[in-house]
Amino acid sequence: MNYFSDADKLRAKFDGRVAGYLYTNYPIKKISWFRVGGSAELLFKPKDLTDLKKFMHIKPSNVPVTILGGASNTLIRDNGIPGVVIVLDREFNYIKQTAVDRIECGAAVPSKKVSNFALKNNLGGLSFLNTIPGTFGGAVKMNSGAYGAEVADILISAKFIDHKGNEFESNLSDICYGYRSSNISDDMICISATIRGSIANREEIIQEINRYKKHRDSAQPIKERTGGSTFKNPINIKAWELIRDAGCSGLSSGDAVISRLHTNFIINKGNATAYDIELLGEKIKKRVKVKTGIDLEWEIRRIGNGPKVEL
Ligand SMILES: Cc1cc2nc3c(=O)[nH]c(=O)nc-3n(C[C@H](O)[C@H](O)[C@H](O)COP(=O)(O)OP(=O)(O)OC[C@H]3O[C@@H](n4cnc5c(N)ncnc54)[C@H](O)[C@@H]3O)c2cc1C
Repeated sequence: MNYFSDADKLRAKFDGRVAGYLYTNYPIKKISWFRVGGSAELLFKPKDLTDLKKFMHIKPSNVPVTILGGASNTLIRDNGIPGVVIVLDREFNYIKQTAVDRIECGAAVPSKKVSNFALKNNLGGLSFLNTIPGTFGGAVKMNSGAYGAEVADILISAKFIDHKGNEFESNLSDICYGYRSSNISDDMICISATIRGSIANREEIIQEINRYKKHRDSAQPIKERTGGSTFKNPINIKAWELIRDAGCSGLSSGDAVISRLHTNFIINKGNATAYDIELLGEKIKKRVKVKTGIDLEWEIRRIGNGPKVEL
């Protein structure tokens, strides 16, 4: 694994000034769904909101910041992430009902937990979150969705911390959402969000969740080391069909392979590196482009340093 030799110097800038955990050269693969990637030069888990604000306030402006949730949509490259990686912890893992049809959730809450909370409170329209891995903060940024619904359909507002430690709130209308994308900039840290559900029949919600779970179990490799859909679906076309029809199913790169269950999922079957996974993705892109003329766009976020992928 890579090693940032100045990591202790970076840590010294914050030692004794913040209350949360600071880890130098943290092996970030531990939290990544793919189980690949180098180290974070400095990982910070703020104790609470005040601590996060303070950290951002004292952080020198030339130190890059990366925010990670469950790293279920992210490929961390093999030479790691320079600067600071922030992971929100327990204080940001809360849910509360704020009105009969409204829920406020901290950004570190798993999306699945949001759906389960909604079920408990007879709120419909949130079942799609049940099968999406990762945190709600990541879902707000990515406009995550499934089964015909996405975060943009349920969000009322979200709170953020900016690169100077200032807190502000954006309403849905302030955020520009697209398919699995938003204009939330990479240095904005989502700390919480308020969402809307609709009063619904408990039995119907249970049936919906069970239907989604059943579909997932049969159609996607959800227990494997993966990053979810590798590529976005082009308009009116399924990426997995393009990949299948381009004859990519048998492609591999080291231990990075294409899932047998779903051709748009790449799996680390053991000792794949981030390079292997990215290389396999680029091989797929190239073959689909040659066969169909369509340029697939990565849905998985690729971050950090690593060898340049060249075909
Ligand atoms: C098996 C599997 C199935 C999946 N199925 C789906 C699916 O059906 N639909 C779907 O949309 N996605 C799916 N995904 C992708 C992924 O689960 C979602 O995008 C998820 O919402 C990402 O959350 P995360 O916390 O893991 O984000 P991460 O991967 O940690 O981060 C994703 C992006 O969000 C940013 N981010 C994370 N937290 C915050 C925060 N608090 N504030 C600001 N920015 C933040 C990161 O910087 C990064 O840019 C799947 C993934 C897997 C592994």
